[in-house]
Amino acid sequence: MKESASAGKPVLVVGGAGYIGSHMVSALVAAGREVVILDNLSTGHRALLNPAALFVEGACGDRALVERILIDHAIGGVMHFAASSLVGESVQDPLKYYRNNLAQTVELLSAMQSVGVPYFVLSSTAAVYGEPQSVPIAESHPSRPTNPYGSTKAALERLLAEVEVASGMRHMSLRYFNAAGAHPDGTIGERHEPESHLIPIMIQVALGQRPHAQVFGTDWPTEDGSCVRDYIHVCDLADAHMVALQALERGAASSTYNLGTGKGYSVLQVIDTVRRITAHPVPVVVSGRRAGDPAVLVANADRIRSDLGWIPQRSDLDTIVSSAWNWHRRSA
Ligand code: UDP
Repeated sequence: MKESASAGKPVLVVGGAGYIGSHMVSALVAAGREVVILDNLSTGHRALLNPAALFVEGACGDRALVERILIDHAIGGVMHFAASSLVGESVQDPLKYYRNNLAQTVELLSAMQSVGVPYFVLSSTAAVYGEPQSVPIAESHPSRPTNPYGSTKAALERLLAEVEVASGMRHMSLRYFNAAGAHPDGTIGERHEPESHLIPIMIQVALGQRPHAQVFGTDWPTEDGSCVRDYIHVCDLADAHMVALQALERGAASSTYNLGTGKGYSVLQVIDTVRRITAHPVPVVVSGRRAGDPAVLVANADRIRSDLGWIPQRSDLDTIVSSAWNWHRRSA
């Protein structure tokens, strides 16, 4: 690993072989930061590992292993992307979510506390809000998660505040809206097995990997009847983590930020964009509503813009879909 004079201390990226984590590693490496990746490869992929980072295969709940990494590499901050993140699965198997998202993270934080690592950046989620009472959703919106996935992230946010009181460890909780897109260089992108997210599914249809896709309802109280979401480019997400980490390093107080654009697109608008960019008709069938889907999820992202100056650069729908298309075509 390269040492850069201007860089801060090395960063541990937990889940750095996953979709969002791998984009974070890429951004850190590009900024001259030394990076160690810890990933158990349960949903991550070796192909997404950045060769400029050191990779350790293991679980963040393995406290002895994490302590050794933190000490051996003089880690200055931890970014935590490793989690189970499927809402439907979390309803079927809540214990898996409490085990993977909460219990494992308790051990990770214990290791950090015992070694004295001062900063933590959490991948949180808009699912902490539950059914929105009003949109766009600001951070002050009540947190009433409606599924175990959101509950585990809300519990982690609370835990971080309590750990700070006890030990002084500062944190940033970043509540993602809909992460999408892929790195412009085409080397890393979204890959879930099985795939459940809208944009990759539509692209799989365009690639001939599925005969058609489903639209989960066109009877929602929205302009065109399909659900509206706030899609945020994964590289913009990574940039937000970078400014959050740098703020912690400069002494900023712990905070919670929405990561979204403030602009929503409907499922039908996304499909039209995929059709235009891929030049494929992308046949769809309209099926029933998916359990747990709110009609509209759009962020009010003013807080991070005014506190940290983060402004999404690549989150227009065309850039998101064309970067995803580029990645899926190359990796098909
Ligand atoms: N969606 C859809 N068909 C699909 C997958 C998703 O109509 O095959 C819809 C889903 O109901 C939601 C939106 O697309 O309104 C985004 O879903 P996704 O699973 O990508 O993200 P989520 O909003 O659940 O985090």
